[in-house]
Amino acid sequence: FTTVSILNVPFINTTNAAFVAQLKQDILAHHNRFVVTANPEILMYAREHPDYQQVLKQADYITPDGIGVIQGAQILGTPLPERITGYDTLLDLLQWGHEQRQRVFFLGAKPEVLKQVVATVKTQYPNLVIAGALDGYYDDEATVVDQISAAKPDMIFIATGFPKQEFFIAKYRHRVDGLWMGVGGSFDVLAG
Ligand code: UDP
Repeated sequence: FTTVSILNVPFINTTNAAFVAQLKQDILAHHNRFVVTANPEILMYAREHPDYQQVLKQADYITPDGIGVIQGAQILGTPLPERITGYDTLLDLLQWGHEQRQRVFFLGAKPEVLKQVVATVKTQYPNLVIAGALDGYYDDEATVVDQISAAKPDMIFIATGFPKQEFFIAKYRHRVDGLWMGVGGSFDVLAG
């Protein structure tokens, strides 16, 4: 994709449909991919935290999540077609993963929320393989990463909020060649 930079952050210049199509190809090819859905809050945070800015540089795709980013691009004279949110992308990939019998790992949210996410996913996407699920209140990162690696997932969704989820992905993505995506509060929404 071509990109549009706002405050030095390069956003992919594409639609939800084209983006998800690209992710499907990447996943089938077992490419190692890191997706960040960035809203204005993330842009501001990155500006003040060079270590987070460094992490954003390692992302393969940064999507415009939030109307503020779309408006910013418009004002700069380099419009982006539409918002691409973590939640919408998550739902599209879960549906596709169900059709393709893909393996998924969920990391994040409170234990009871995660439990509900697993139950909902099992009902709505029965052919999706839940390779593993862990809540986001772990204390030993190494054990978490070992479990993700052993599960051999095609897609890893991490819902521990920003910046934690992005730091985690940047640090450990080399352990599994698959799609790594931070999805913020999406598990809470999915759990209903
Ligand atoms: N969370 C977590 N581990 C933590 C802190 C937060 O799993 O150590 C979860 C929290 O339960 C919630 C999500 O991360 O499900 C954060 O959602 P929020 O909407 O605050 O994230 P954002 O969308 O701002 O990244």
